Amino acid sequence: MADTTTLTTPAVLILLGPPGAGKGTQARMLEEDFGLVQLSTGDLLRAAVAAGTDAGLRAKAVMEAGQLVSDDIVLAILQDRMAQPDVARGIILDGFPRTDGQAAALDGLLARAGQKVTAAISLEVDDEAMVGRVSGRYTCAACGEGYHDEFKQPAQAGTCDKCGGTAFKRRADDNAETVRERLKAYHAQTAPLIAYYEARGVLERIDAMGAIADIRRTLAAIVERVSA
Ligand code: AMP
Repeated sequence: MADTTTLTTPAVLILLGPPGAGKGTQARMLEEDFGLVQLSTGDLLRAAVAAGTDAGLRAKAVMEAGQLVSDDIVLAILQDRMAQPDVARGIILDGFPRTDGQAAALDGLLARAGQKVTAAISLEVDDEAMVGRVSGRYTCAACGEGYHDEFKQPAQAGTCDKCGGTAFKRRADDNAETVRERLKAYHAQTAPLIAYYEARGVLERIDAMGAIADIRRTLAAIVERVSA
């Protein structure tokens, strides 16, 4: 999909799904397809950890254990990001909200700006497959393109297909043991949000076990429909 489709009103999209469902991958594609801005609280928290900020220091051990960082830290970090001017183009929330409290806080934040959630899209996948998907993944350190030991190697070993970079990184929490903890946290604290958004009439469910390009097309069709 080469063209960037411009949406008439700024969309607020939420991608829901367990670790490994493809939220980050699809959020990056929605950025390309619609000019939306991806807001990943996981990325924002990892940046805070790397920068050694107070929030980062408080979040680090919790993230390494595969548990959820407290709502106050996450909300402060998200609010800072949402104050940047680029979010006016519309946003894709990736990995947020993850608790009832975060969902309610998001509703409040949006209401103050005269906005609401356009759609919450649940990427439905098989849990056991997620352990394998997440455990083998890594990204280009320069451009963030995603790869996988088994499913998606660069065409030329050691060189990023997208930018030619030669340094790659793996997340500290992408190991089988921590992924199982993250899946538990997802089911206990985040999966109930599916019903929360269903009750508000903004839930969309998609089968996310298929090919990345097929899921991209399905998502694009949903975004066009809900933004019309
Ligand atoms: P992610 O990159 O979305 O897989 O998030 C990685 C880790 O960051 C999670 O396992 C949590 O420890 C933390 N995290 C990210 N987003 C949130 C959130 N919305 N609420 C609480 N913790 C979060």
